[in-house]
Amino acid sequence: MATENKSAYYSVEIEPKFKLSCEFLPSDKGMEERSFHILLKESFRCWAEQVTGMDPDTPRTLLFCDGNGRLIALFESGSLIESGTSFDFLERELGREPAAAEAVLMTKVRAPLVPVECARNGIVAMIGLLTSDEELPSSWFHAISLSFVPHLKWNLEKQLAAVTAIEKQQLEIETKKRDLLYQAAEKLHSLIDVESILTELIARLRALFPAASIDLLLSQDNHSSSIPVKPLNFMRVEEDICTRSFMEGREIVAHGSVGFIKEAALPLVGNQGVYGVIHFSVIAGEIPSSDIQMLSALARTAGTAFENAKLYEQSNVLVSELRLINEITKRLNQSLQLNEIFNFASTELIKIFDADFCCILQLDRECGKLVVQATNLPALVNESFSPDYGFSGIVVETKEALIISDYWSNPKVQSKLMEKSKSRSLIASPIIVNGDVVGVVLVTHQLPSFFSYENYKLLQVLSSHIGLAIANASLHNEVKRMVITDNLTGLYERHYLDEQVNLHQKKDFCGSLIVVDIDNFKSVNDTFGHQIGDKILIQVSAIIRTCIRDTDIAARWGGEELAIYLPQVSRDQSVRIAERIRSRVVNETEPEVTVSCGLSDWHWQDDKISVESLFYRSDMALYKAKHEGKNQIKFG
Ligand code: GH3
Ligand code: MG
Ligand code: MG
Repeated sequence: MATENKSAYYSVEIEPKFKLSCEFLPSDKGMEERSFHILLKESFRCWAEQVTGMDPDTPRTLLFCDGNGRLIALFESGSLIESGTSFDFLERELGREPAAAEAVLMTKVRAPLVPVECARNGIVAMIGLLTSDEELPSSWFHAISLSFVPHLKWNLEKQLAAVTAIEKQQLEIETKKRDLLYQAAEKLHSLIDVESILTELIARLRALFPAASIDLLLSQDNHSSSIPVKPLNFMRVEEDICTRSFMEGREIVAHGSVGFIKEAALPLVGNQGVYGVIHFSVIAGEIPSSDIQMLSALARTAGTAFENAKLYEQSNVLVSELRLINEITKRLNQSLQLNEIFNFASTELIKIFDADFCCILQLDRECGKLVVQATNLPALVNESFSPDYGFSGIVVETKEALIISDYWSNPKVQSKLMEKSKSRSLIASPIIVNGDVVGVVLVTHQLPSFFSYENYKLLQVLSSHIGLAIANASLHNEVKRMVITDNLTGLYERHYLDEQVNLHQKKDFCGSLIVVDIDNFKSVNDTFGHQIGDKILIQVSAIIRTCIRDTDIAARWGGEELAIYLPQVSRDQSVRIAERIRSRVVNETEPEVTVSCGLSDWHWQDDKISVESLFYRSDMALYKAKHEGKNQIKFG
């Protein structure tokens, strides 16, 4: 290995008698042992050729020893024959025991050493000639040693230059990688959306390691279209390094040949958890093991950047969802008209989810059907379904929301909505009021897997707000209805009739008013009791209701007097209606009663048009009918 702590001593046999010794001083540059061999061999070759005139290819032995005289390598005719600490060759060469041979080298062969300096490292070696012939003069050794110096020095410089060039190149590569890492970290942290971070990470890794195949495995569903994301395999944890890396939150590396990586799994770790794994495998070429640090650093950076972006995304989603819910709730509650609420909700849901179609159904308990209240799909307008039909049926039954990612891949449930709209994705949620399902919201898109889990959750929240708005509006309508409805008869209250007549007189051309009074009602009460009296009142009211149109307004005028306003109805028509009421009352009441009717009408050409005069004239006509024998109609 490198001569870091102690000097290395080499010797070269020149002639059987002479050996050239070379002692390399400790150097922090750290040269490979092999390099010394080559260095000595090369230096020896040119020295031998140029100075001694020896043929370097004639069989010759080169001995390389370390500072303790221990053999490091043996060359013969330029080829490495042996390396290690064996002294067998010394025994062979010098005909002595290894220990004795070593002693020869250590005691007898020291000649004056000549320093070898090189520009970068100062004195790097001392060289000298070794021999067992003690009779040769030391100046001769010195001269030979000196003549060897330039050769060794030249070769040494050459080698050091080569080493420096390699080191420089490595340093450049390292610096470049560090720069890239720094740039990547800076870039990753500057991004605030998950998709960009992952795209950037993959791009950076591909640029840094073009020979590797890189996969991304994420724990959560990702809608990225540009990055292929693989699922984590939790079934075979032991075999799959990615799953192990994810579970243990640490990098797992599979080594290839010595010093190289074959495969690595690097977790994307943040402070709050592990989000996924980058799988790195080498198809062709090799990635040095040292690069794993860089990969890990990049994965760690990406992990925190990913977490930050995820948190940022989540808080953004949360804030915008809250804003949206707030806004929708406010606007839903502005309207107390149910149809307005349904239409507004449908339009908004399409906008919020970027959906293609929406359908809101309400459960009509009277007819036992789910009635479409709002939709942008013409085929469903005014439709109604059995409460167990399709996806709305499932939602009604389970009281749970549902999400379908691709309807057509397995269309088990019959659905007119999905069929007519050619939709593939669906999210649906029940509208629940006081624990009861009162309706269903369905939102669809023609693309598969269009809606996310977040969409599904948001629809549930919005549905509950739609439910509240419906409950509010229903309550309001009920109160309003109660205010204008007479309790006993179910007809309108008098004030409502007054208001309506007033409104109609402003916009219509004509209208009629019939005042109906039950004859001798006092004696009915006296004879049968008040309860029967009430029943009669209810019977008469029911008859009136079936004799008039929806647009006509029947009210309890007070006591046993009832009034009907017939918008846009002329005198003749109103007489016919009053007559029908009169005759049906006679025939259908039990116990039998009769009614007297007073009629009046107005026309836009009249001098004075007012509610009061209309009522006054009807009242006068009624008085006349009573006066003339009751059970009849009179026109005033
Ligand atoms: P006429 O034929 O002249 O209309 O005679 P009448 O007895 O019907 O008229 P009168 O005005 O003398 O009496 C009205 C009666 O109607 C008095 C009252 O007890 C009764 N009445 C008013 N409101 C109600 C009600 O809500 N229920 C019952 N059972 N009776 C009522
Ligand atoms: Mg009466
Ligand atoms: Mg009366």
